[in-house]
Order: sequence, then C-alpha cells, then structure tokens
Amino acid sequence: MGIETAFLGELLDEDQIAEGEDALREHATDWGTEDGVEPDVVVYPTSTNDVSAVLAAANDRNIPVTPYAAGTSLEGNPVPIEGGISMDLTRMNDVLGVRPADLQLDVEPGVMGPAIEEAAGEHGLFFPPLPSSGDISTIGGMIANAASGMQTVKYGEVADWVRELEVVLADGSVITVGTKAVKSSSGYNLRELIIGSEGTLGVVTRATLELAGRPQQVRGGRALFSTLSDATAAVTDVVQSGVDVAKVELIDSESAMMSNDYTGADLPDVPMVFLEFHADHGIDEEIEYCQSVLAAHDPIEFELADEETMDSLWRARRDLAFAIRSWNLELQPLVPGDVTVPISEYGPTIEYIKSLEDDHDIRMPCFGHAGDGNIHYTVLVDPTDSDELERGQQAYSDIVDYALSVGGTATGEHGIGLGKREYLEREHGEIAVGLMRRLKEAFDPNGILNPGKIFPQDDDWQRADPADYRD
Ligand SMILES: Cc1cc2nc3c(=O)[nH]c(=O)nc-3n(C[C@H](O)[C@H](O)[C@H](O)COP(=O)(O)OP(=O)(O)OC[C@H]3O[C@@H](n4cnc5c(N)ncnc54)[C@H](O)[C@@H]3O)c2cc1C
Repeated sequence: MGIETAFLGELLDEDQIAEGEDALREHATDWGTEDGVEPDVVVYPTSTNDVSAVLAAANDRNIPVTPYAAGTSLEGNPVPIEGGISMDLTRMNDVLGVRPADLQLDVEPGVMGPAIEEAAGEHGLFFPPLPSSGDISTIGGMIANAASGMQTVKYGEVADWVRELEVVLADGSVITVGTKAVKSSSGYNLRELIIGSEGTLGVVTRATLELAGRPQQVRGGRALFSTLSDATAAVTDVVQSGVDVAKVELIDSESAMMSNDYTGADLPDVPMVFLEFHADHGIDEEIEYCQSVLAAHDPIEFELADEETMDSLWRARRDLAFAIRSWNLELQPLVPGDVTVPISEYGPTIEYIKSLEDDHDIRMPCFGHAGDGNIHYTVLVDPTDSDELERGQQAYSDIVDYALSVGGTATGEHGIGLGKREYLEREHGEIAVGLMRRLKEAFDPNGILNPGKIFPQDDDWQRADPADYRD
C-alpha cells in the first residue's frame, strides 16, 4: 500500500516532488539492478533545510527515506526496497568554493567529478581519489559508498580526502562531523562512520575535501608478460619495492584477448600491466627504477608514453569493461566482483580464481587496481543455462570466501548494498555486526534511512538474473 505524501507539499515546492511513473522507475534501480523497487514518491531537495524538513516529517510518520544520487552503484545500494521516499540529491550540485590556501574545496553532495576537477584545476589543484566512474557519479555517492579509484596506490581512497561533512540525521537534526584540520584526536571519529554507511546513518549535505597540487610530470607505461604469475609477481614487487607509482592496473590474458578483439589492437593476448607515474621532479629516475624491478619478471616488452599519448598505450585497459560485455552476447556478466586482498596475497588470489574457472568450466576474465590488491572478476554465464548460472554464483561466492580467508575484504569499493549482505558477518563476525546494528539504531531509531541495506536480513530479495542486469 502506498504512503500518504500530501505532507511533502507543505515542505517543498511542487517541482521538488515527483510521483509520475518515469521518476519512480528511474529511482527503482541502479546500474547493477534491472528490476528494482519503485519508491512511492521522489523528492529533490535543494538545501540542507529541505533535507532536514523531509527527514523530520518522514521520521514522525515512520516513512522510509532512501538517498539517491547518480544511481551508478552496482549492488542495489540506492534501491528503495521498502518503498517510501527516494531522496534525490542531484539538485544540490553547487561547488561552494575552493580555498587554495588550505588546499580544500567545499561542495554540495550532488557535485560530480568533472565539476570538482574544473574548480580545483583553476588553482593548479586536483582531487586524486576519484573512482573510474567519477565522471558519472556524485561526491555524496562516493562518500556514502566509500569509493576509490585507480590512484589509490599512491593517493589513497575518497575517505582519505574527506575532511568535514555536514550530515542530516534521521530525525532532521543537522550535525558536522570531522573538522577542516588535517588531523584531529577529538572524540569518536563519526566522519569515518558516515563514510561507507551507504545512506543508512544520515544524509550528507556538504563536504569539505582535501586537494593536491597537480603533478608537473606525468608518464604512462605498459608491460606485457608471457604468464600471469610473472605479471602478478611484477605488480607485487613494484608495490613492495616502494616504486612511486600512481596507477598499477593488471589485466589477465583472457581480458587482453577480449580487449584486443574489441579494439582491433595489434597486441598479443597476454597479461598486461599498465602504469602511471606522477612526480614534480625526477620522474625518469623513478621509471628507470620501476623498469629494473619489472625486468626481474621477464616482461616481453615495456613501452612508455608521455601524458599526451598515454591514452592509446592504455586503450586495452580503458575499453575493457565494454570489451568484456560485448565479447560474446550469449554470455552475460554477474555483477562484477571487487574483492581486495593484502598485496602479498594478490598473485595467489588470482591463481585461485583461475583454478575455479577450470573447475567450474566458466569464463572469468580478471582485471583490477592491482597496486592496492583489488581484483574485478567478471563471471560470464549463459543466463538460460540454470546449471551454469549456479556454478557461476558458486564461483563468485567462493572467491569472496577465499579473499576473506587471506585477510581481504568482500568489497574494496562498491559497498555491501543488497548484493553482498550475506558476506557481512563472514567478514566481520557476529559480535561486530551486532555492534554495527546498535550503531544504526542509535543514529536512526525508527530505521527509516535506506532500510534493508548492508545487514543480513530474512527477506526474499534475490540478486537479479544476469539477464536482467543493464548493459
Ligand atoms: C562503469 C562503472 C564504473 C565504476 N567504477 C568504480 C570505481 O572505480 N570505484 C568505485 O569505488 N566505484 C565504482 N563504481 C561504483 C559507483 O560508481 C560508485 O560507488 C559511486 O561512488 C556511486 O555514486 P552515485 O552518485 O552514483 O551514488 P548512488 O549510486 O546514487 O548512491 C550510492 C549510495 O549512496 C547513498 N547516497 C547517495 N547520496 C548520498 C548522500 N548525499 N548522503 C548519504 N547517502 C547518499 C545512496 O543511498 C546509496 O546507498 C563504478 C560504477 C560503474 C557503473
């Protein structure tokens, strides 16, 4: 049964409330889910006061409110599975100001990567941890999902670049967590609790981000290896040797084959490692050092490019997601995995995934932000073959268990959402998850904020068949 929405008309303007089919459908899903759940109504706040007023009123009425931004999540994170209000934050998209003297930027939550880069770039600065989806996702969504990108190996995650947040709690009260200082020992760290909470603890309405000076020197590299174990050993060695590298991406031979197929590149179907170097001085010495580390693992070739020509050197990596999807249209991917392991376990984890590929007779191309131990594995299955689908799901789950067994995490960047709830207790244990539940209750006693997410539940939500995932 739908909710009574008339009260919203007293809080917001008419054009800030949508109950039409298009708006409801748009807010029913994210990138990883086709058949989601429609909210009863979508609201578009344009200020902290709007967010606060809606939350306070919804809380009084026990109406669920699920924050929604660009919807690029892959695990159903912004899907309003209990209906109610979808709170779309994309109209709160002002860059409030750059403060170059502090290397900081203040933004509203709906601001996307390009606007951040433009504002920072005017002062010779940049925001290093943007995810690969930075062009199409919002800073509020990145903070809520604890996102990270290709440059984590040098610069860290989004979480490392968030200083202060304004947050509206479920009852409408407004708090500030963190400070504008670079460090603080003051009290419990509520900022870190909000980061990665997927909209279940509060709604972020303003963020202060740290910025860095643009590197003066940028170069790219690509190394080809004859075996996957050479490639993973080379990556591990680069990281362990302390080479100052800004990106280290690995693709396996299967991914290379699909990418070569897609791009028509004249490259062998072999494992490849892509690198990017940033420095203000001495970049040649750093690259030379990196080459000496790679040389111990017998690369077939190592090519370098400057910033302007790097794009073509990196093309096989850049177009990979499209290449995998379009390689065989009869096979469809399960939601891409994003396990992340300690760097010493990187090679063994990839080896384990490849052994499952043989055991289950399933294709699982692997690539990832190798420098920080991240692996994106894509389980490709024929969705009309229920046995293959089951084997694919089993393999997916076995990989998560393996990553946990070596001290890694079920999700390095996409969050738990709906799709990974079953792994929460396996990763953290019952007592820690019980504590997380009590924190949720303290922040949101009525459980109105993005209900049903993160925690394991006895509901009948199932991952959609891969046939249902969007391209
Ligand atoms: C092609 C592609 C590539 C990707 N690459 C990466 C990658 O490299 N690294 C990575 O980490 N992720 C990646 N992702 C996943 C996704 O893009 C990120 O998690 C992104 O940060 C989500 O932002 P969004 O604006 O789309 O948020 P949404 O998907 O709309 O929402 C994300 C979550 O945040 C909550 N939320 C949104 N706004 C707020 C707010 N203001 N306050 C509180 N909660 C809020 C929502 O309720 C939801 O739980 C990728 C996705 C795609 C489709």
